[in-house]
Amino acid sequence: MRVGIGFDVHPLEEGIPLYLGGVRIESDKGLRGHSDGDALIHALMDALLGASGKGDKGKYFPDTDPELKGISSVKLLRKTMKITNAKVVNIDCIVFAEKPHLSKYYGRIQTKLAALLKIKKSAVSVKATRPEGLGIAGTGIACFCACLIEEEKRDVPNIHNKSLAD
Ligand code: MG
Repeated sequence: MRVGIGFDVHPLEEGIPLYLGGVRIESDKGLRGHSDGDALIHALMDALLGASGKGDKGKYFPDTDPELKGISSVKLLRKTMKITNAKVVNIDCIVFAEKPHLSKYYGRIQTKLAALLKIKKSAVSVKATRPEGLGIAGTGIACFCACLIEEEKRDVPNIHNKSLAD
């Protein structure tokens, strides 16, 4: 097994749609970014890449690439799954946002991410916490994600079975 963590934060801006975990969330503000600003998927992508030892999302999806302007983060996650070829065991995510309240969206986000990662809904954990007026309150949304993957089979010599004379 291998574990990875990811973090992302984007600023909130009026008049743009809010996407988290590939789900459209009712809100008068959305997350500004080069893509659709889905910070939850971006954190997940970095967790996947980290667990796979394949760097970070900026390496594959630079925010200077005009082809990625406004792209759906769902597409970026699909590409990340191809890059890592990871067999995901489970993920655990935290959304750090003053508002909107997200609990009613947990089920939809779990369903969406489970389908994208090809795992059971029960292997996708999503929760949210509010900054209670501190820090980035109301100006942005930050997301954290931990991801466990099965280790790919490699021809690694088992050093424990080697004689000390080798
Ligand atoms: Mg991002």
